[in-house]
Amino acid sequence: MLRDTAADAGPTVAGLDAALAEWARPGGPFDPALLAAHEERESFPAEACAALDAWGLPEFYVPARHGGRQERLDVFVALLRRIAARDLTVAVAHGKTFLGGVCVWAADEDGPAHLLARQVLAGEPVAWGLTEPGGGSDLLAGALTATRHGSGWRLSGRKWPVNNATRGNLMCVLARTEPGGGARGFTVFLLDRRATLAGTVRPLPKMPTHGIRGADISGLEFDDARLPAHAVVGPVGGGLELVLKSLQLTRIVCVSLSLGAGDHALGLLRRFLGERRLYGRGLADLPHARDVAGRAVARQFLAESVAHTAALAAHHVPEQLSVVSAVTKAFVPSLIAGQLRLVGDLLGARGFLTDVEGYGGFAKLERDHQVVPLFDGSTWVNRAGLAAVLPLLRPGRRPAPAGADSPARWLREDSEPDPLDTRRLRLMAP
Ligand SMILES: Cc1cc2nc3c(=O)[nH]c(=O)nc-3n(C[C@H](O)[C@H](O)[C@H](O)COP(=O)(O)OP(=O)(O)OC[C@H]3O[C@@H](n4cnc5c(N)ncnc54)[C@H](O)[C@@H]3O)c2cc1C
Repeated sequence: MLRDTAADAGPTVAGLDAALAEWARPGGPFDPALLAAHEERESFPAEACAALDAWGLPEFYVPARHGGRQERLDVFVALLRRIAARDLTVAVAHGKTFLGGVCVWAADEDGPAHLLARQVLAGEPVAWGLTEPGGGSDLLAGALTATRHGSGWRLSGRKWPVNNATRGNLMCVLARTEPGGGARGFTVFLLDRRATLAGTVRPLPKMPTHGIRGADISGLEFDDARLPAHAVVGPVGGGLELVLKSLQLTRIVCVSLSLGAGDHALGLLRRFLGERRLYGRGLADLPHARDVAGRAVARQFLAESVAHTAALAAHHVPEQLSVVSAVTKAFVPSLIAGQLRLVGDLLGARGFLTDVEGYGGFAKLERDHQVVPLFDGSTWVNRAGLAAVLPLLRPGRRPAPAGADSPARWLREDSEPDPLDTRRLRLMAP
């Protein structure tokens, strides 16, 4: 479905595939035994992340206009999917920098963008601090406050739980800048911990987790932390709008984690069907096994079609992305969660035992995947968002897109996507 479009000899999807296969050999940074040991010890998969840094993945976090290789969302989705198919913890840990940077690219201001691009290209991870202990999905309840201090700002409060909060020096933070809050009461800041006074920004302890156990899920506490004026991203008071538009892109990227988990599960299932013999014949000869396997594969195709369409929609119809991204995030992770249940059911004991050679990975990936439906706007948050705009979506309300705007046109394999233009994103589809 995806063509590799990199015209030069730089990193490509096919190149990453080959590298991952090499790294998965015994002793390599993606050796399943090493990744399982990290999971067991709840330690960060540093070797795998270092290999991805050296390969050049950080270049795909930075838009081409700021010196990176990020040009096509479908290419980025494909890259993260390949990594997730090997190990979801690594994909969540490394891929977070895409989410951390997106507000800065979407704000489209040269100063902060050049600054961040330099750091990301040098391999610095970037965290995204939206959630607070008392807030969860309700961003308007955010209590972390930024108040003006001379030409700069002072931040007090907590962001928790946040992926890479402790590992990274950089975090994009949504802070309340109007005491009364409200739609125009929040602002995004790009925090560089190295530029703050000692003791004013403290990491919160790593949280033990059910899945992605090696990831750095922690947080930051701000105690009158001073930030310079140039830490502001986008307009003062425009933070909520910027975050909601950025989420339209990150929700599409997040489903690559589900696609990768589905690929991994189907790989295990294929192997099992090929080698398991029961009643003197192959398991695949059992009608029930064929039925379940067929349904698992169908779910994967459907998930892939939705994700691919959404990634291209970001280029061709960004004005519609509030709806497209919500459909994608509400639908794909749930679809794949169901696929994992089907595969786990068919694997039987091997889906449950964690130390059977070759199959131990299933229990881990099923645990790891459970986080995908709940972060970056849970399935229910996205469904609720869609329910609110249903009257606008009723058939016949607007003419079906024709010509170059028609999905039938831009989904063709030979169609080159328009460059991603975040200025065309809308809070609500027109
Ligand atoms: C491993 C992990 C990593 C994370 N990483 C980050 C990160 O890097 N940055 C960050 O900012 N946050 C991060 N989070 C936080 C994550 O995004 C939150 O889980 C999320 O904000 C929702 O908060 P909550 O889970 O406390 O649920 P709540 O918001 O308290 O919701 C409770 C329940 O109500 C449902 N619900 C909420 N709103 C609605 C609605 N409108 N309609 C219907 N149902 C609704 C939810 O689906 C949920 O089931 C992370 C969380 C985890 C577990």
